[in-house]
Amino acid sequence: MKCITNCQLVLEKEVLNGKAVVFDEKIEKIIDEKDVDPNLYEVIDANGKYVAPGLVDIHIHGYLGEDASDGSADGLKVMASGIAKNGVTSWCPTTMTIAMEDIKTAFDTARKVKAETEPYGAKILGINCEGPFVNPSKKGAQPEEYILPPDGDFIIENADIVKLFTVAPEMEGGEECIKKVYEDGRVLISMGHTNASFDEANKGIEWGVRHTTHLFNAMTSLLHRNPGVVGAALSDEKVSCELIADTFHVNAGLYKMVHKLKGEKLCLITDCMRAGGMPDGNYTLGGQPVVKTGIQCLLEDGTIAGSVLKLNEGVRNLYKNTELSVAEAVACASINPARAVGEDKNIGSIEVGKLADIIICDDDFNVEKTFINGKEWKE
Ligand SMILES: [Zn+2]
Repeated sequence: MKCITNCQLVLEKEVLNGKAVVFDEKIEKIIDEKDVDPNLYEVIDANGKYVAPGLVDIHIHGYLGEDASDGSADGLKVMASGIAKNGVTSWCPTTMTIAMEDIKTAFDTARKVKAETEPYGAKILGINCEGPFVNPSKKGAQPEEYILPPDGDFIIENADIVKLFTVAPEMEGGEECIKKVYEDGRVLISMGHTNASFDEANKGIEWGVRHTTHLFNAMTSLLHRNPGVVGAALSDEKVSCELIADTFHVNAGLYKMVHKLKGEKLCLITDCMRAGGMPDGNYTLGGQPVVKTGIQCLLEDGTIAGSVLKLNEGVRNLYKNTELSVAEAVACASINPARAVGEDKNIGSIEVGKLADIIICDDDFNVEKTFINGKEWKE
């Protein structure tokens, strides 16, 4: 049994001092530091740093040159190991709008890796299927040639591996698709890459939309007489919102307002593509050339093409640009996304009985150690 002491313990709603967390595969107990018996436990000294829940990234395409859409098992493992060093302990490999047979291959690959018993890094929760049911007019970096009308049957057929998917509710077939998947009840429905009006977005929510794909990006914006998808997503309490907090996709000055409105429904994501963790240069996304310069990834025509954000940096950016507490900022990248995809009983916070997905990080959210199911992850 392991025991982390000398830490600032980040729980869901507060940060505690003078406590120690005892865990094996699961979190066993939280005790007073003075009661730690070094003969009973393998004691880990956190040197006064934060001990926080492992982060949960529900929207990430690639990392370290690999991309979930490639359908490579080794690629998924490279990503899983790489993002674990950024504090991510669970994730949803995210597929793009690509050829249907390539999407199916990516699903099968995720099924295979998820079923492996040998640890490979951050745990795959399931797929985030971002395409192909999007609106061509808000395609962003999704290649238009593979866009298809919304198909609820396809999602339901793959509900064993798909945790969430993106749909533009205003597209022909959108209503039927959303109603079907909502009734099935297994997959989270996210509106995104959508040109819906405020009314159309609200209709989508009525049919079963409960999540929003990277709020503000690739959707109708909030205008005072035409409040768009952004207005609908921010107004409805049932709907959670993803935010790419890299300070480039959305002005950092808005983070505070979005958190005020969404609170526990705000989910930080990275939307990272294969250039994440790599030097500046030329890469691809959905088969299209992308140039990475610093924190920006752009298609040749200047369209934003994903990010190179690491989720711990997202927490840092949120924390530094708001007046949120550490617990609130961390929750946006742990318990909130875990809850959105229905995994909060097992992961997402440091709580007795949950899996021991734990990170040790400094004041700047630089990750020093990552524990997955109680084991420190080292490549
Ligand atoms: Zn994406």
